[in-house]
Amino acid sequence: MPSNAARTTKAAAQDKPEQRELAILRLIHSGQNYSRLDLARRTGLSPALITSIVRNLIAHNLVSEAPAVSSLVGRKPIPLEIRADAGHLIGVDIGSFYSRVVIADMNGRIIHQDQIETRIPDGRVRVVDRVFECVHQAIAASKVSRESILGAGVAHSGVIDTERGMVLSLPRPGQMAQWKNVPLRAIFEEEFHLPCLLEDSVRTMATAERYFGFGREHDDFLFIEAGMGIGAAIFIEGKLYRGAGGKAGEFGHITVDESGPLCSCGNHGCLESLASCAAVVHAGRVAIERGVDSKIRELAGGDLSRISIEVVAQAAIEGDSLAFRVLQEAATHIARGLADLVNLLNPRLIIFGGALFRAAPQLLADPLRRIIRQRALEKSSNDVQLRVSPLGGEAGALGAARMMSSLSLDGLYRRTMGQPTSAGVATSPADSPAADDAARPGGAASHPA
Ligand SMILES: [Zn+2]
Repeated sequence: MPSNAARTTKAAAQDKPEQRELAILRLIHSGQNYSRLDLARRTGLSPALITSIVRNLIAHNLVSEAPAVSSLVGRKPIPLEIRADAGHLIGVDIGSFYSRVVIADMNGRIIHQDQIETRIPDGRVRVVDRVFECVHQAIAASKVSRESILGAGVAHSGVIDTERGMVLSLPRPGQMAQWKNVPLRAIFEEEFHLPCLLEDSVRTMATAERYFGFGREHDDFLFIEAGMGIGAAIFIEGKLYRGAGGKAGEFGHITVDESGPLCSCGNHGCLESLASCAAVVHAGRVAIERGVDSKIRELAGGDLSRISIEVVAQAAIEGDSLAFRVLQEAATHIARGLADLVNLLNPRLIIFGGALFRAAPQLLADPLRRIIRQRALEKSSNDVQLRVSPLGGEAGALGAARMMSSLSLDGLYRRTMGQPTSAGVATSPADSPAADDAARPGGAASHPA
């Protein structure tokens, strides 16, 4: 992108030395495996100046040289990365069924991970207490020093106010009062005495995709998550698009059938009410209750309350026609909604994640492809690649840790260089332009005034 490169050059050349160093540090943290030569090209600074800045960052134990990628011609460029032991992050994802915890280094390598059942019906206080216990155990098991932990990124599947660090609501039966206006970020900060951020789990999953999955190769992509609900995250020019009020991505609440079932949002026939894991499981159970013979019953041990998305997927793989049909129907609904998005945004790449796609990637991908081809305009549907995320269930926690590492970078730099840190620590991605966009070298200082 020439316009970006030009802006970078100007910003980097005019910056004060520490701003330049920080800009270089952010570029190295962007996970693009930049070499010194790449950094010179990206910033327009002279190779000699880059060499000197990198030498200083290495001397302060912030940066290290990664193993070189083999090259057939000339000298191998040495990729740079943030030193693995420069700092560590906690990543937490409080999901509807499972909560995941990771301890990761600044580059997003997972040192330790764990998961527990969330057991939402137990109520918020017990859920949060159990997650705390899991985090404390994960810190101990990871053997990283407590002082090296820079912060915690927390992902939650409710309606999130990222700036204020609040869970506004969790639209699950019986949980409305439990999770209404909960200052979850502050609750975590109080427990761990660390800066924390709170973010929507679809966005943290998409962030993991951006840095560690298929999103690495593309600055523009759409991420679709289907689990208990359905959500989307949109990356444009390498940056997460949040929308005017921070609520962009409510893909699950587009109407696909006006006479469809009532949705948690109060409307009828939202995509989420027809194609989420909960909807698929419900469709399977209702059919069996009405007398349809299905392998699902046997795989659930005869107990219809134990039908899960994994059980439905397994039955479909074993040739069960009911399981196959309910999954195909879910894929059809998602594809109808997506065809409109493909027409609107003309994305190069759509990545699918979440429990539904982990359970039945191939069964869903094929009908999705076919229906989008049928329904979207030819040009747009030819441009788009559809891929199922290569990341596992820990993606939400990993992405949260990764977001927190971007927020922590300035503080880490100032602490390491022995400069006084500014008054506050950025605690929400909205405070920090670097958070979702670590590759923005000349960006405004990510520390709030
Ligand atoms: Zn809805």
